[in-house]
Amino acid sequence: VARKAGFQRALLRWYRSRARPLPWRDSPSLYKTVVSEFMLQQTQVKTVLPYFARWLEALPDFSALAAASEGRVLKLWEGLGYYSRARNLHRLAGRIASRSSPPNTPAGWREFPGIGPYTAAAITSISFQYPAACVDGNVVRILARLTANPKRFPDSATAAKIFSPLAEALLSSSPGDHNQAMMELGATVCLRKKPLCAVCPVRGYCAAARLGHPGKFPRLAPRKIERHKLTRVWCERDDSLLLHLAPPSARRLASMHELPLAGQAGLTVKAAACGELLAQKRR
Ligand code: SF4
Repeated sequence: VARKAGFQRALLRWYRSRARPLPWRDSPSLYKTVVSEFMLQQTQVKTVLPYFARWLEALPDFSALAAASEGRVLKLWEGLGYYSRARNLHRLAGRIASRSSPPNTPAGWREFPGIGPYTAAAITSISFQYPAACVDGNVVRILARLTANPKRFPDSATAAKIFSPLAEALLSSSPGDHNQAMMELGATVCLRKKPLCAVCPVRGYCAAARLGHPGKFPRLAPRKIERHKLTRVWCERDDSLLLHLAPPSARRLASMHELPLAGQAGLTVKAAACGELLAQKRR
């Protein structure tokens, strides 16, 4: 118990003095937390920063977002990718704006579109001090190193499940700051390839650092990466450009228009390659 309290204190002291000054941490609000958590899904902080600033200026609260047209929302999101996030955030704002008060538990937030266990824990711990631990790849890495867990995990989702009870057990009485401190530690100190153990605030609690090879943890099976070459084509007729409408279930460009694949445009690969050259010349 004393070690747990010492770990929590060291982590929080470090976070409160060293955390990066990010705009969603400055005068925090539920709206800023929700928008930043949606934007940060699959996307790095430095990419999100200019989008977040533009978004807050154009749509400063849930009511403004709920009242905005989908076209405006998508325009503000343009370039961030995974557009289903923007649509889900838009729908969520409509539901929040129509309620007398937002839910304050992870289960309540999980009923909204686009909210998984991590995002629900992040929003409720940061905005309502709900005692739920956030467990993502960063947190798994820290916990695997703190415990020097030798187990080999088939994938990061399995590892997250295994480490969840430990993450919950380590939560302090300030769950919002604790979760943000763990995320900050994973993003800036306990780095995947070269952890900065010399400046780590919880080094005294870390079994992997004591063993001298923290980079060996966590032990994750290598990800299988399949590479596919896609040929997209530029087809014009009568001053119109042929575009393909991605289905709502598409991961990156749900319900967005994109250049069609050769097969979708009814072309052979040879003809499609000519189309590509034509498109390059026109740019
Ligand atoms: Fe990560 Fe090193 Fe800190 Fe351990 S001591 S938690 S390996 S940065």
